[in-house]
Amino acid sequence: MWRATDMAQLLLARKLQPGDVVVDATVGNGHDTLFLANEVGPTGRVFGFDVQESALKNAADRLGDRPQVTLLHAGHETLAEHLADANQLSIAAAMFNLGYLPGADRTIVTRSETTLAALRQALTLLQPGGTVTMVLYPGHLGGGQEAADLLGFVQALADGFAASRYQRMNALAPAPELLLVERTS
Ligand code: SAM
Repeated sequence: MWRATDMAQLLLARKLQPGDVVVDATVGNGHDTLFLANEVGPTGRVFGFDVQESALKNAADRLGDRPQVTLLHAGHETLAEHLADANQLSIAAAMFNLGYLPGADRTIVTRSETTLAALRQALTLLQPGGTVTMVLYPGHLGGGQEAADLLGFVQALADGFAASRYQRMNALAPAPELLLVERTS
C-alpha cells in the first residue's frame, strides 16, 4: 500500500536534482532527511529542523557522514532566519511530516500556529518549480484541527501556487494525507 510518506518521497524523487537546497522541517528519526541527502548529493544542502534533541541524535546516527546535511535543534518556525544566516535565499523543496514521533513523547507534537508560520516561510523561499510536501494526521489528537487549518490555508493560495492532496479513501479512521504545494511561476 502506498503510504502518504512514501508518496511524498516518490513525487519529490522525480523533481530533485543533485546540488539542490532543501529543508526537512520535521527531522524525527531522519528517514526523510536521509532521502533528501541522497537526492541532492554531496553538492547539495539539506537543512533539518526538530525540537527534540534525542530525535536529532537518532537522525545523526542514521545519516552517518553526510556533510551536506545541517541538523538544527530549532523549531521550523525559525526556518527563514536559519536559511538567511546560511546565505540560502531559495529552496527546491521542503518536507513536513507532522504529528508526533512514534515511540517518543507524544505530547511533543506539531501545532497549527508554528506549522503555518513555517509553511509561509518555506513558500516564500520556494523556487519556481519547487515543491512543499506535508503529511497530515487528521486521526491524531489535535491533528484534525491542524489538518483543517493547513487545508484552509493552501486552498486560498493565490496564482503562482498549485495545491493538491492524496489520501486513502477506504480507511476506517481518517487516514494520513499528503498535501502538496508546487510553485508554478
Ligand atoms: N520524518 C520523521 C522521521 O523520518 O522519523 C518523523 C517526524 S515526526 C512525525 C514529527 C516530528 O516533528 C517530531 O520529531 C517532533 O519532535 C517534530 N516537531 C514538533 N514540533 C516541531 C517544530 N515546531 N519544529 C520542528 N520540529 C517539530
